[in-house]
Amino acid sequence: IQTGVQGAASKYEKAYINGQWTSAISGKYFEVSNPSNGKVVAEVPDMGVPDAQIAIDSAFSAFQNWKNTTAKDRSQILRRWYNLLVENQSKIAHILTAESGKPLLEAKGEVVYGNSFVEWFSELSRQVRGEIIESSVPSKKILIHHQPIGVVGLITPWNFPHAMIARKAAAALSVGCTVVIKPAEDTPLTAIEMIKYAEEAGFPPGVINIITSSRDNAADVGKLLCENHLVAGISFTGSTTVGRILYRQCANGIKRLGLELGGNAPLIVFKSANLDTAVDSALVSKFRNCGQTCVAANRFLVQEDVFDAFVEKLVSKVQLLKMGDGFQNGVQLGPLINEQQLNKVTDFVHDATSKGAKVIIGGKPANYLGELFYEPTVLTGITSDMKVYTEEIFGPVISIIKFKTEEEAINISNSCDVGLAGYFFSEDISQIFRVSKNLETGMVGVNEGLISCAEAPFGGIKQSGLGREGSHLGTEDYTYIKYTCIGNL
Ligand code: ADP
Repeated sequence: IQTGVQGAASKYEKAYINGQWTSAISGKYFEVSNPSNGKVVAEVPDMGVPDAQIAIDSAFSAFQNWKNTTAKDRSQILRRWYNLLVENQSKIAHILTAESGKPLLEAKGEVVYGNSFVEWFSELSRQVRGEIIESSVPSKKILIHHQPIGVVGLITPWNFPHAMIARKAAAALSVGCTVVIKPAEDTPLTAIEMIKYAEEAGFPPGVINIITSSRDNAADVGKLLCENHLVAGISFTGSTTVGRILYRQCANGIKRLGLELGGNAPLIVFKSANLDTAVDSALVSKFRNCGQTCVAANRFLVQEDVFDAFVEKLVSKVQLLKMGDGFQNGVQLGPLINEQQLNKVTDFVHDATSKGAKVIIGGKPANYLGELFYEPTVLTGITSDMKVYTEEIFGPVISIIKFKTEEEAINISNSCDVGLAGYFFSEDISQIFRVSKNLETGMVGVNEGLISCAEAPFGGIKQSGLGREGSHLGTEDYTYIKYTCIGNL
C-alpha cells in the first residue's frame, strides 16, 4: 500500500462517533485510491448498520444538550471550525486531489468555497429569529419560533467531497441539529480530515459524527438513516436514482428531506452574445471537475447565426486544455472518478456517434495518461434521441445543438424532467428577463458560468430535488416552525 500522497493521509483512517475515533465493529476496511494512477491512498473503516446505529444514538443523545446551546455559542464553535479549515486548507486540498483526481488548483478552490459555507452559517446562526404576529383578538398573542429538527443524516457525493459536507453540516449545526455524515465511498478522506478540525474546534461528542461505508454497505446504512425513528431528516446530494430511493424510504416516517439531484443544464448562446464571454464561461461550467458536477452545462444550444463562430472559438480553446495528474503544475483536467463513470462517458459518445453526431475534437479515452482519463470532446449534429441530449453526461463532453429562434431554445431547454441550473448568453436586456423567467430551472446564470456561492440559494426544481442550500434560506431544511398561542391575556 502506498500511503498518502505527500504524506497527506495515513494508511488506516478511522471514523468518528460520539467524540471517539473508531474502526468498524466488523473490523473491516475498504481502500480509497487515486483515480489518476490507481494507487491506494488509505484505508477507511467499512461500517455497516450496527455502527450507524451507534452514531445515530450518539447524535440523538447529544442533541438533547446541543439544541439548548445559544446561537452565540454555536456561532463561535462554527467560527473556530472555519478558522481551522482555513489554516489547513492546503493540506485538505492535497487530500482532496489525492482521492478525487481533481487538479490541485481546483481542489483549493473547492476548499475555499466549502469553507465559505461554514463562515456563512457561523454568521447566520445568530440571525435566525422568530416573530410575534398580531392576533385578531386582544387576549391572544401569536409567537413563532424556529426550532432544530433533531438528528440529521447527511449523505454526500464524491464530486465535491469537502463542499457538500460543509454546506449541509454547517447549516444543520448552526441551528442546533446534530449530524451523522456518510461521505461517498470514493472520497471519505477529505471528510475525515474536516472532522478532525471540527473536533479541535470544540463540538461536543456526538454533535458531529462521521461513518464511512463501502458501496456494499451504503444502501443499508442509507436505509437505516431514512427509517430510524431517532433521525428527523435527511439531506442528500447525489444521483436522481438514489434520491428517489431515499424519498421512498423517508415516506413512512414523514422525514424532512433535502435532495440535491442531477441536472441537464442547457447553455444557450444567443446571437447577441459576447462570444468570448460565452466561450470562457462555457469552458468553466463544462470542464470544472472534468464535467462531473450537477450544474455542468450539459446541452449547448447555439443560435444558427453565430454557430460556426462559436464552435471555432470553443474548439481553439478546448485544444489548449491540459489534462493529467492533478498534482502536476498547470493541469486543468483530471481523470474521471471511477470505471463506472468512464464507461458511461464512453458509452454516451459512442451512442451519439452511432446516431450521426460528428466528433470535432476528442471523442475517445485518453488511456495514454491513465485508465480513467477521457479526452475533452466536442460533438455537433446532436439529435433528441441521443443520450448526450437526454441524460446528464457527467464527463468532459460538449454536445452542441443548433437552433433558430428563442422559443425553440426555450422549448429544447425545458423538454426534460429535471431543472437544476441553466445558463444563457445574451446582450439583449428584454431577452435576458424573458429567458430567465421561462427557463425551468432552479438557478439561472446570465452571461456567467459559475453561479454557486454561500450567499445564494442552491437547488433545483422538477426531479432535480427539494429544498435550498446556502443563503439565508439554507437553514429551513433543519428547522421546524413552532407556533405558540398565548391566550387569556
Ligand atoms: P453516483 O452514482 O454519482 O456515485 P450516488 O447517488 O450513487 O452517486 O452516490 C451519492 C451518495 O449516495 C454516496 O455517498 C453513496 O454512497 C450513497 N448511496 C449510494 N446508493 C445508496 C442507497 N441505496 N442509499 C443511500 N445512499 C446511497
